[in-house]
Amino acid sequence: MANPDKSTIERLRNKAKQSTCKFRISALGFNKSGICVIARSNKQQFSRKGGGFHAERLVMQEARSRGVCRILICRIGKGGAMRPIDPCPQCQSIADKLGIIIDTIPEE
Ligand SMILES: [Zn+2]
Repeated sequence: MANPDKSTIERLRNKAKQSTCKFRISALGFNKSGICVIARSNKQQFSRKGGGFHAERLVMQEARSRGVCRILICRIGKGGAMRPIDPCPQCQSIADKLGIIIDTIPEE
């Protein structure tokens, strides 16, 4: 998704605002028809096992049941501005295995 539409950006922004983390990140999952079927924000980790609470990871946990084939992620800064972000290597690796493409928003 090179240029997500306004409603998609708004949905990402609102979802990221629900995050309780210092770095607020959200992820939307889209099916093959391009319909958004799931939205998640990242969650704080309380154990060192870690890795399970990235927004894109939470989406991927339900990817199969919901038919997600593409994920769009973003981070919002202090002033609410949207920032592009890359998935971490672990999430990227899982996405590759699932055949899911992870995209981010363009730089503002
Ligand atoms: Zn990750």
